[in-house]
Amino acid sequence: MKLSFLGATGTVTGSKYLLEDGKEKFLVDCGLFQGLKDLRLRNWSPLPVDPGRISGVVLTHAHLDHSGYIPRLVKEGFRGHIYCSEATFDLCKIILPDSGHIQEEDAERANRYGYTKHKPALPLYTAEEARASLEYFHPVDFGKRHALGEFLEFTLHRAGHILGASLIRMTDGGTSVLFSGDVGRLHDPVMKSPVAIEQADYLLVESTYGDRLHDKSDPMEDIEAIVTRTIGRGGTVLIPAFAVGRAQALLYYLYKLKAEGRLSEQLPVYLDSPMAINVTELLHKHLNDHRLPRELCADVCGVAEYVRTAQASKALDQVETHMPSVIVSASGMATGGRVLHHLKRYLGDARNTVLMAGYQAAGTRGDRLVRGEKEIKIHGAMYPVRAKIDKLDNMSAHADYSEILEWLGHFKEPPRRTFVTHGEPDAAKALRDRIEDTLGWNAEVPEYLETVEL
Ligand SMILES: [Zn+2]
Repeated sequence: MKLSFLGATGTVTGSKYLLEDGKEKFLVDCGLFQGLKDLRLRNWSPLPVDPGRISGVVLTHAHLDHSGYIPRLVKEGFRGHIYCSEATFDLCKIILPDSGHIQEEDAERANRYGYTKHKPALPLYTAEEARASLEYFHPVDFGKRHALGEFLEFTLHRAGHILGASLIRMTDGGTSVLFSGDVGRLHDPVMKSPVAIEQADYLLVESTYGDRLHDKSDPMEDIEAIVTRTIGRGGTVLIPAFAVGRAQALLYYLYKLKAEGRLSEQLPVYLDSPMAINVTELLHKHLNDHRLPRELCADVCGVAEYVRTAQASKALDQVETHMPSVIVSASGMATGGRVLHHLKRYLGDARNTVLMAGYQAAGTRGDRLVRGEKEIKIHGAMYPVRAKIDKLDNMSAHADYSEILEWLGHFKEPPRRTFVTHGEPDAAKALRDRIEDTLGWNAEVPEYLETVEL
């Protein structure tokens, strides 16, 4: 087998590994590059391999940095099967068309304001093209061997992280390769722990938090304190939240706090994001993919009133009737979505709290709020920030380095080679050093487009 790193080297985005076995070519993950412009431009350059000659794709999970290039791959001629777990497929049905929609909006905006050297600016793919790519998906069960082409077999094992997330163990007769995808937390209240793996000849391991440890505080206590303080002064807690994963974890904590009498049963909670609502409903369908039993799952999802229509969402901005309350709304970094309308109405009142619930990329509105800026621009106008700004640092869906090392500790003997990917350069090097020092394995950080013989 030959393995080439077509993404997730020196960055946490663009996950794409090309596996060549004899004449056949396969991709493990097919993600978008995101973030800085130099990275995003890579989405536009042709792959080093003709998509029409790729026989199949196996996906670890549905996050766009692992699945978001699929519609483009199909647009460029890919006609093989895309294998993934059932829940990953269900999430891709929500996430990929939405991604196409955002690409179309971005292209339209670029054309309208003329900030493009391409005339006209085009979307990487459209919502329609994303929907068309769903026809190539073939969901498979966890824990069973599935044939891939003539010589390969793969097995999906649960990785925690988000609904449907998988570790992929690929074998070619005698040789095995484990792709970690994104490794979840070892003790998450909603998601299961990543399955312990005892053997692989080659290993690719992610390093998003290769140089960091998560805050040890209990998110539930933090949320209780913040919500209690805010409603005590008659305010509303507005939480910009990622629709996949984070929004559901927040509902879980809010439910528990109410069930334990730590928050009032009467406090209204709203989930205001069609995507987050659709993802939340998948929890019921995929009960085996998380820790919540059927009844508890229904109770957790029932803690919030679902706000589906734009009209109902606008009604939340009649502030006097919606204070105090908790509003969970996307997007998570306040870069777009319905939360912007709520920010306009709630930011200016010192009784309210805006609670950032996850990682805020540099330069985003969420980042500016966390850094304490006194005025924020939304839809071209400036809004004063008088609400309290808070953040939760302990709700990550990624294992930190101590959790990764603990998970790797299940290996009975070291892999022949360990490739540390999916991290910023410092994080990847830090995890490589820790694997060498703590486990005594040889580990390396591959370069973009590097090819290795397995
Ligand atoms: Zn992920």
